[in-house]
Formats: sequence, C-alpha cells, structure tokens
Amino acid sequence: MNYPFPRSGGITEDPCGPPNFLVVSSLQHNLEDDPACRFVFSPETNFDGILVLDSYGAESVETIVRETNSYVLPMANLSGAALPFADFQSDVRTSETISLAIEELSHIARRIQTLPDGVRASAIPETILLARAYSRKRVIEPVYDPSVRDCVIYPVAGLVDEPGRRAERMTNAGYFTRMFFDRLHACPDCGSSRLNAREECVACRSADLSDQALIHHLQCGHQSLEADFRQQGLLVCPGCNTELHIEGVEYEKPGTVNTCRSCGHVSSQASVGFVCIDCKSRHDSEAIATRDFYKYELTRKGERALITNEPWVTREKSTIGSSPQEAVIHQALRLHSRYGRPLAILRVTFGIDNREYISDRLPSDAQASNQLAAILHSETRETDVIVEAENGFFVYMPETPDDGVNSSSTRLRDRINATLPAGFDVNIKAMRPEDL
Ligand SMILES: [Zn+2]
Ligand SMILES: [Zn+2]
Ligand SMILES: [Zn+2]
Repeated sequence: MNYPFPRSGGITEDPCGPPNFLVVSSLQHNLEDDPACRFVFSPETNFDGILVLDSYGAESVETIVRETNSYVLPMANLSGAALPFADFQSDVRTSETISLAIEELSHIARRIQTLPDGVRASAIPETILLARAYSRKRVIEPVYDPSVRDCVIYPVAGLVDEPGRRAERMTNAGYFTRMFFDRLHACPDCGSSRLNAREECVACRSADLSDQALIHHLQCGHQSLEADFRQQGLLVCPGCNTELHIEGVEYEKPGTVNTCRSCGHVSSQASVGFVCIDCKSRHDSEAIATRDFYKYELTRKGERALITNEPWVTREKSTIGSSPQEAVIHQALRLHSRYGRPLAILRVTFGIDNREYISDRLPSDAQASNQLAAILHSETRETDVIVEAENGFFVYMPETPDDGVNSSSTRLRDRINATLPAGFDVNIKAMRPEDL
C-alpha cells in the first residue's frame, strides 16, 4: 500500500529535529518522510508518537505501549478499530487523514519534548496523568462509554488504571481542580451503571403499564377510564348512559392513569425502578446508589511537580516539616512551651460505618476528605492551621484556651453532622500540645 504523503506546510521545523513516529501495522506502508516528521517501524527505535494503521496495529499497540513505557506519548488511530485512548481517530485511511493525524501527533509530541526525560518514559500512574493532562489541553475529561460498567471513561488518562480514583487523590493534594461532569446511577449489587430506568406498577412492579385517559361526565359526576366510555366509536357515560359529544361542555378529561396489564392495578402514579443490565437485579429508585464523575484540570502546583519531575508520593512526604503551615505550627508550639501561650489542638478523624453495604451511596474517601477539609476551613479562624493527617486532620488553634476549644469542637461537630451523609463517622478529640 502506498500513501503519497503530503508535505505538511503548517508544521515548522523543530530545533530538536523532526519527531519520529512509530507505524504499527501488519503491512509495510510506504510512508514518505517529511521535513516535519520521520517514520520508524520498529518499537526498538526511539519514537515520539504512534500511528496505528490497521486492526493488527490496534491489537498490538497496547502491548507496545506497556513494553516501551510509552504511556505519555500521543497516538493516532486510523485502524477503524476501537482505541478510545488514541488522541486522533479516523475510520478512513487516506493521505489526508494521515496528514491530520501527523499534525495532531506533532503538536502533542512537541509539548512532551519540553518535559524531563524521566517524565516522557514514566511508568508511574500519577506522573503519566500529569504529563498527559499537560500535553493535551490540561484537562482529564470523562466521556460516556457504554462498553464499560461505569459507563464513563477518561481517554486522556491513556492506559492508567483507575484514573478517576487517582485524580481524586491528586486533587486533594492540589495537583488538579475538579469540575462536575455528571451523576450516574449505579446498581447497589454489582456497581454497574448500565441500568434500565423504567416506570413500574406500584402494586406488582411490572413495567407492562399503559397510559389511559380519564373522562369525567360533568352532569352526572361519573368518572372512569376513557375505555369504559367507548362504545362503537361513540362516548357513552357508563353511569347514566348519555351520549357525550362536546369536550369541555359535556365532559372533561382530567388526566391519565396507569393501568397495569400484569395485575390490573390502576394508579394515578407509577413508581420508578431500575433493572441492572449486568446482574439483572431490580431495585426501587430509593435503593439505587449514585456516583459523581468529574473532570480534572491541571493546577500550577501539578504543573510544577511535573516539570521538576517529582513523583507525587515522594513529594507529599518531602513537604512534611517544610511547608508554611508546619512552620506556623512549630512557632505556636514553641510559644506554648516557652511562654505558656494557649494552644488548642483538635484531632479530627473520619471513618465510614458499614462501608460494604452502603459504599456507593457515600462519597469516596477522597471526596469525604475534601468535604471535611472545606468544613474545617470555613469553621475555623484565619489564624488556625489545618494539616492533613492519617484518616483526617489536625486543627491547630493558637491563642485558644481550653473552654474555647469545647465550643469550637461542638460547632464543628454540628456542622459536619448537618453536611455529611449519615453512615459517615466523624470523631473530634481535643488534644494537649503535650500529648503530641
Ligand atoms: Zn401490577
Ligand atoms: Zn353520566
Ligand atoms: Zn447489577
């Protein structure tokens, strides 16, 4: 196969040299090199992006990415097969689509070239997420995908496992800010969001309902289903046997009711139920869990961590003892021990009761921690310092005597109980600086 490859006029030559793109395909394609890029055909060669040209390529590309740690690199998919994480998709393979693919690959590859070598070949999921967000419009955005149980995937996350959960934790650490995407229902038995929402009979839960109009004969007051009035194309009141002709004068239609074809129950309201397509279980709407999905935008802190290539876990550890908050705490502790200045400390921990049973209806640990942090920030003074700790937070309250701490902790407890859902167990304990 031969694709005369058009000269890409829009791409200026790069000081690092033109990028190499790995062509993954079962056939040898005669792709002509261009001033803007070179094509290579072996994963052993260095490459800056991947071009998948056929279904063989689509099947083997994931292995190539994993074996060569190319998680960050851009990918164009012209195979027609599904590769949701590819940066460029086209079902048709013409010299024009190849040209567009090259343009997109070059654009992302140039962004990636500005990153440290360790980032480009990183296999650390958090680094990959940061680098992919950075090189692709800064946002890790979810899209609907009915082929997975969650019904939502994050193509920008590439092959990173559980990108949503990781991005939540990274959001807590300040690397991303999140924006609401959608709330999806989830089966309480298996967690799937592939659910059929339907109207059901309130008596027998069958979905075999029919809508029927009601007719009210104004003169005699009889009201029943329109079907009861129908007699050979005429409307005849079953109460008084009068023929009815003029709606609004002789009779009115006050609304519709549901009749169940299964059990015959007639009701003005149907209830909503859900059937899980995956595990086939049926649940009332009250029993159905919901799950919120977010898109995550890279922050300056995240960008800095990426550009200096500090793996995020190490970075979190390395800040202990060196952050401005820590400095304030050390100062408060020194003032307390040396001059006896009052200093109150609250230890706020949270846990979730019965997590197994209600997990999907409760916020994730990361969401809960976020909500809790927001409450602590709004209910404490500017001079108080909040520090994340295992399973919760420490709140340091300089210049606060013992009686002040009791009212603070009562206020916090009330606010937390009013804000966080039930099943969410928060424990607030006052501590003395000496106990630390
Ligand atoms: Zn029924
Ligand atoms: Zn009547
Ligand atoms: Zn299910």
